[in-house]
Amino acid sequence: MAAASTKHHVVVSGNDNVPLPVPVLVPFDLDDAMMMPEDLEATAQTVTRLVSDMSTVDNATGNCSICMESFWPSKGSCASRQVSCGHVYHRDCITDWLLYANSYSCPLCRHQISG
Ligand SMILES: [Zn+2]
Ligand SMILES: [Zn+2]
Repeated sequence: MAAASTKHHVVVSGNDNVPLPVPVLVPFDLDDAMMMPEDLEATAQTVTRLVSDMSTVDNATGNCSICMESFWPSKGSCASRQVSCGHVYHRDCITDWLLYANSYSCPLCRHQISG
């Protein structure tokens, strides 16, 4: 009786060659977030200045791409902010994004935000 030696089936479990789906929005890398920069206070001041320099949008429509919630009517310093590329976010959302993203760029299009 001849054994069919060519008929073997390799089962690869834990195949790590399969590319993971890339999420559209990566808030921040956890490893990076664990390493707080020493000049965190200076960063916070820079972010506050950048956000206050952005144009305010009192009656933004649609959803904030950071928290996925719709814009709510707000005015003054609490109003939604429009980045110079044209994308609009809640003030608190874009503030947090800039604080933790390690780069001053638009979450959607990577447009550089500079003061
Ligand atoms: Zn938001
Ligand atoms: Zn943008």
